[in-house]
Amino acid sequence: MTVATTVLAVSAAAGASPSTADTTAFDIVPLGVEGGVVEGSTSAWFIARHGHEQGLACDAGTLVPGIRAAIAKGGFPAGTRPSDVLHRRIGAYLITHPHLDHVAGLVMVSPDDRAKPIFALPEVNAALAADYFNWSAWPNMGDRGKPPLLARYRYRDLAPSAEGVPVEDTGLAVTAFPLSHGGTLSTAFLVRAGEDAMLCMGDTGPDAVEHSTRLDSLWQAVAPLVRAGRLRAIIVETSYPDPRRDEDLFGHLTPRWLHRELGRLAELAGGAGKLTDLPVVIGHIKPSVDGGPETVATIARQLSEGEGPPVRYVIAEQGLRLEF
Ligand SMILES: [Zn+2]
Repeated sequence: MTVATTVLAVSAAAGASPSTADTTAFDIVPLGVEGGVVEGSTSAWFIARHGHEQGLACDAGTLVPGIRAAIAKGGFPAGTRPSDVLHRRIGAYLITHPHLDHVAGLVMVSPDDRAKPIFALPEVNAALAADYFNWSAWPNMGDRGKPPLLARYRYRDLAPSAEGVPVEDTGLAVTAFPLSHGGTLSTAFLVRAGEDAMLCMGDTGPDAVEHSTRLDSLWQAVAPLVRAGRLRAIIVETSYPDPRRDEDLFGHLTPRWLHRELGRLAELAGGAGKLTDLPVVIGHIKPSVDGGPETVATIARQLSEGEGPPVRYVIAEQGLRLEF
């Protein structure tokens, strides 16, 4: 199950630190990094225990185009067939919430996928069964809902904050924490590989705007891992640059709000120094229809210039492997 070290090289352009097999816990391949508007690179992350070929997909807005891009860019070994990634390397799905830009790839590819579990909060799985795999939007590929059940996908409900649930054949275990996303239930998945952990966060607004305590609860839950140096990375959205009026956030974050939320995590973990160089991988930036790179550059600059803790921001690029 190990991959030759020569194909584990990380693009320096992606901002990942040089790492060795001894200290690396996770291999992450961004399959889709944008927040809607344009199809072809919407939210999806391949996550594997370092050196393991089989992992899982956290969200599945884009699958095959992301897999193809990753093979072309070295995110997966040269010569890998896209079907091998889809059928074998992606051993399970974690779905943060049922918005289209997080599930379209899964729905589209399902006729050519293999049997596998979908891990999600019960309400999210219920929405997948009711809104997509319902013989109206799409044939019922699930094992619940409107018959006949094709049962290619097995819904696996995760109780909020429950002890890590093992994901078969991946060496990973997951815990789901609810997030508030402008009236929609979203999810942060804590993915564990032995003693190490990382967060794959779905869309979320700041607690202060959402009138919620869900981010605060998440930060409290992971603060001990930060204190112990075991939280290896956070994948989180920053959909819009500042300035943006609170009433126009629609359940999303800006650099200013992310700084404030990470500041709260630092406070709980024992000070800003505890977050020094913690990789914070940014996704779900809303692209412009005209394709200009300005928004990404603006968000990157605002993240690095602002007042948050001294984390290491990584602007994710589709297909470029990250190691943490
Ligand atoms: Zn969303």
